[in-house]
Amino acid sequence: MKYYSTNRQSPVVSFKEAALRGQAPDKGLYFPERIPVINQQWLNNIRSIPKIELAYQIMQPYVGGDISAEQLYQIVTETIDFDFPLTQLEEDIYVLELFHGPTLAFKDVGARFMSRCLGYFSHDKTTKTTVLVATSGDTGGAVANGFLNVEGVEVIILYPAGKVSRVQELQLTTCGNNITAVRINGTFDDCQQIVKEAFMDQQLAERLQLTSANSINIARWLPQQLYYFLAMQQWPASQTAPVMAVPSGNLGNIAAGLLAKRSGLGMGNFIAACNINDSITDFLETGIHTSKQAVMTYSNAMDVGNPSNLIRILEMYQHNLSFIKSQVSSSTQTDEATIYAIQSVYENNKYILDPHAAVGYSALKQVLRKGGKGVLLATAHPVKFPEIVEKVIGTSIPIPESIKPLYTLSQQMIDMEASYECFKEWIWYRSGL
Ligand SMILES: *Cc1c(COP(=O)(O)O)cnc(C)c1O
Repeated sequence: MKYYSTNRQSPVVSFKEAALRGQAPDKGLYFPERIPVINQQWLNNIRSIPKIELAYQIMQPYVGGDISAEQLYQIVTETIDFDFPLTQLEEDIYVLELFHGPTLAFKDVGARFMSRCLGYFSHDKTTKTTVLVATSGDTGGAVANGFLNVEGVEVIILYPAGKVSRVQELQLTTCGNNITAVRINGTFDDCQQIVKEAFMDQQLAERLQLTSANSINIARWLPQQLYYFLAMQQWPASQTAPVMAVPSGNLGNIAAGLLAKRSGLGMGNFIAACNINDSITDFLETGIHTSKQAVMTYSNAMDVGNPSNLIRILEMYQHNLSFIKSQVSSSTQTDEATIYAIQSVYENNKYILDPHAAVGYSALKQVLRKGGKGVLLATAHPVKFPEIVEKVIGTSIPIPESIKPLYTLSQQMIDMEASYECFKEWIWYRSGL
């Protein structure tokens, strides 16, 4: 498989090169030259295909010959080494729980896949790859955990002081080893700005092999398709295809779901469930992509003003707005609606939604008034957001066994002002440049 840049000013590259670069030199995003078509006979038996085999078959065409069959099998095995249960919440709503990975968020899948690919590609190299990433909370933890002890890869994570939850901060700062957390005295946008400047800095580029680990990177974006295959594996055979409600920010997850649908996986329409940061809504109405200043909400991982993966959705549907609208709608949910969803689902079903899944739930509820059934993608465990959730449900959230040790580990982070000059000086000396 070859990948082209959505800006079409950079050369076509292999999976390996696209994964190592992150973004194309012309600042476009990499996109596969063709979307693999899945054999429908094989898909008809999806319920009896072992999940590792399924994952291997889905990812193989995208990776091509860049990773050996045996290695890729190993990589997908480690990538989806936990459960993805689809549970019925209400008569017409099923929840796909994507939070059973090591950092309790769906981002674990992409981070694990990408880290193992980069580790594999770094084997034959003398220079280290440096992964630089800004996080509002979930990305950092998943990336830290995914890349911990991966040889040949150095990870630097920037996060805003005081703006991530306690569990999130612990996940970022307790890894040590090849993972360095930098606490920025500023906002997520400041962190993002520093990362952007670093990627544009020629002096750094000449000396460090820098790459991003957000959903811009195909090695993090593409494996997200697997959620949808795993959902449909568990979807009752007697039911018609479900509507898919996807809590959305950068639109990476939903774009991956649409890619799975384009390659033949039978699903109903998609809902991009957003908080008030809903650039996608404006886009679907006007066809014009404008970027907005992000506003803080309770579902902070979706506080994105300029969703980077929108361009990939456009590519998938040949930039045809009415085609896109026939597949995807958007729904905007306020913080009040988010609270209400957490509260009512807890009261009615004793089920605890995190604020992101709550946005998806409200959106799905509205759409299903017209009938049909749906799958809600629950993107994070509520224990990651106890500050809000516990206040709403009036009781404490049981802490999963898997993360209890976190609370006893010591934290390490570098404190830094929100300035690119400070960051550059630090990375320069630290890397011995
Ligand atoms: C990152 C994240 C999202 C948004 O996903 P995108 O792929 O950026 O649209 C939603 N929910 C949670 C919990 C997240 O961490």
